[in-house]
Amino acid sequence: MSSPAADRPGAGGGACAATTAGRSPLVLNTVIVGRSAPLSALARRVIRHEGRLEKYRLQAAARRILPKERIRVCHRIAAPLAAPHLKYSPARKAAHLAGLMACGSPWVCAVCASRISERRRSEVSTAIAWAKGAGLQVVLVTFTLSHGATDSLKASLAALHGGYRRMQQRRDYKALRASAGLTHTIKVTEAPWSPANGWHPHLHVLYFLEPDCDVAALSAALTGAWLPSLKAAGFSASARRGVDVKATWDAVSQYVTKLGRTWGAADELTKANTKRGRKDSFSPWDLLRSAADTDNQLHAKLFAEFALTMKGTHQLQWSRRFKGIVGVEDRTDDDLAAHWLDDDQAAYWFAGFNPTDWAAIRFCGAAAKADLEAAGDGLDRKRVDALVAEYRARYFAEGWGL
Ligand SMILES: [Zn+2]
Repeated sequence: MSSPAADRPGAGGGACAATTAGRSPLVLNTVIVGRSAPLSALARRVIRHEGRLEKYRLQAAARRILPKERIRVCHRIAAPLAAPHLKYSPARKAAHLAGLMACGSPWVCAVCASRISERRRSEVSTAIAWAKGAGLQVVLVTFTLSHGATDSLKASLAALHGGYRRMQQRRDYKALRASAGLTHTIKVTEAPWSPANGWHPHLHVLYFLEPDCDVAALSAALTGAWLPSLKAAGFSASARRGVDVKATWDAVSQYVTKLGRTWGAADELTKANTKRGRKDSFSPWDLLRSAADTDNQLHAKLFAEFALTMKGTHQLQWSRRFKGIVGVEDRTDDDLAAHWLDDDQAAYWFAGFNPTDWAAIRFCGAAAKADLEAAGDGLDRKRVDALVAEYRARYFAEGWGL
């Protein structure tokens, strides 16, 4: 457990965080993304470091916005019967901080989200591969609703999910399921926000169907079931755009690839693009990033609205028994956030931190955690010790004024 002093005003970011704000990883990223040649080892290290820094930075920003939520302890407090330390995974050739509490939120915590989403994307890929092997067709169906800039996320999301439930109970939908051989689904909820139109919650549903399904007929039938279901839930949708069906393997695999990026918050290779220019549409991570970078109070408020609305909900839902059929183990977000490495990526203890060390690391914020993990990647114990000594010096000088 760290010293209570780490919770003093200004701790966990303060002066040390200010030193990292001056860094400009974007320039490096932009250069790297522009290359078509394979990345050098140095470039990979830089990208990995930026990704870590971004995750810890966003995590700290979310903690400031949501001081009463579970994220407040994530990667700050030692887990029960554990002490903070660095672990090294030979399989991943990477180190990570361990022995810490994890909040397990895929919606608000960039660190937990990246761990959870990595596994979730792999699970969906397994289902797609299973469908291919079984000779099934997979189509991506997007359900949207019409909304206004002043609609709360809670209201429009309730209508979206309520409409979907009602649709599933309709006789015409059940008939459609039977005729299309619809056996399984995986449903994903997303909710970007735009200044012009407010929250835009929508569902992406992967439909696992008999092969050679008539896409035009499926689209028309789904639209016919979706519009009245949504109306019964108090909202409406465009007859032309309320339901979108994409039926090629390319479209499906592109979507699955995108899943990790959408969820992962700190996708290193797209970060430069997401940060550049004026945005018409903001993912919740964009809102958080904006709040962190520019202290945009509206974006911070919107991110808090998103976090509190999505709290306790699943990022994606598989139809009943589907995971068992595909052979995917049913694991919770909490479990994945705490035990995210596969057995073949097993890691071992590399360096431990006593309570004062950890208080100093916490005081020095996101950059300290990212730098320690980078030193751990190279199993560089001397560098780890030097960094900890530096953090302790800063902690006592800036935190305690000694
Ligand atoms: Zn977390």
